Amino acid sequence: MARIVMKFGGTSVADLDRIRNVATRVKREVEAGHEVSVVVSAMSGVTNQLVKWCSDLSPLHDAREYDTVVATGEQVTIGLLSIALQTIGVEARSWQGWQIPISTDGAHGKARVEEIDGSRLVAAMGRGQVPVIAGFQGIGPEERVATLGRGGSDLSAVAIAAAVKADRCDIYTDVDGIYTTDPRIVPRARKLQAVAYEEMLELASVGAKVLQTRSVELAMKQKVRVQVLSSFEDRPGSMVVDEDEIVEQPLVTGVAYSRDEAKVTLRRVPDKPGIAATVFGPLADANVNVDMIVQNLASDGTTDMTFTVGKADVPRAREVLEKERASIGYAEVLADPEVTKISIVGIGMRSHAGVAATMFKTLAEKGINIQVISTSEIKTSVLVGAEYTELAVRALHTAYGLDAPA
Ligand code: ASP
Ligand code: MG
Repeated sequence: MARIVMKFGGTSVADLDRIRNVATRVKREVEAGHEVSVVVSAMSGVTNQLVKWCSDLSPLHDAREYDTVVATGEQVTIGLLSIALQTIGVEARSWQGWQIPISTDGAHGKARVEEIDGSRLVAAMGRGQVPVIAGFQGIGPEERVATLGRGGSDLSAVAIAAAVKADRCDIYTDVDGIYTTDPRIVPRARKLQAVAYEEMLELASVGAKVLQTRSVELAMKQKVRVQVLSSFEDRPGSMVVDEDEIVEQPLVTGVAYSRDEAKVTLRRVPDKPGIAATVFGPLADANVNVDMIVQNLASDGTTDMTFTVGKADVPRAREVLEKERASIGYAEVLADPEVTKISIVGIGMRSHAGVAATMFKTLAEKGINIQVISTSEIKTSVLVGAEYTELAVRALHTAYGLDAPA
């Protein structure tokens, strides 16, 4: 007997037939003798609609009320799935974040999980019940519903798996695993049997949409074994595990891309000590995540500062920079959303030189201009014009020998 957390994403619960399919899968695990907790997302498209309603009313809406609105999607699916399970003879009960409770901090819209008390869930499973838990939500310090950021039900699932000490956290989705890159762009992408936590963390953070970044961070920290698999097929998926478990380590494991960032340039910033703090401090205070940064020195004592932020954060970033205009002392702000960040990731990069050089050479041969570069120990990312996305991803996938045999 094992204790398993099963998480189903939006496409897996997109309509009643699919919810029935999920119920069947849950029943199978219960009948195999396992203790099961289920975490679900909202029906696909629902959260987007809810987000849009908030933004349409006001682009700078109150984040607490945003949470009140967007947390409703999951409340619908936990109720429906519980009914579907009961209908086929599985004892199930729905749980919202506050009922567990999943306690978060007060950063509404992208709250962090501070603590989960797993005891009620463990007790329910012990009584033979299947808890059906709303992903994406918890309860903040003011006792208001708080959401965990987009894709946050993955985080809910991993956090619950850690809290109830599950043997495994199975993330059911509409793809059957983790691929070397997006198969829609590269048909010869390969499915990976196992990916190291660290690699998955980098892949997720640079656009591989299959798992939310923070969920991978948490899985790594808490050593939760995660499996990504399809809710529509009966095949083993990809495991996300400790790097020791991975026998053959290629140089580059995957190529990822993200169209979610926009390039922001501050023109003619005075080049003096403390200026970066004056720019990025207030952005951080406003919860605007900054990713890549470059600074170009001009000869007249000023500098152009270019960085990337989430596309959705551009209005907020502009507002902050406008407010700080006098203290920073820049000439103008430019925002360009027509960019894509392309990244190569692999633990093998740690011990091999020249991996990034191959990337730059490959892009140069295709005539693709690199606008910004950033690197970490096991990742190199470049920002390129959005129109080059497919070309760049395909060329890099081939250059690192990732194409499946024809
Ligand atoms: N429904 C939420 C979203 O679309 C959470 C999730 O699906 O993971 O972001
Ligand atoms: Mg998701």
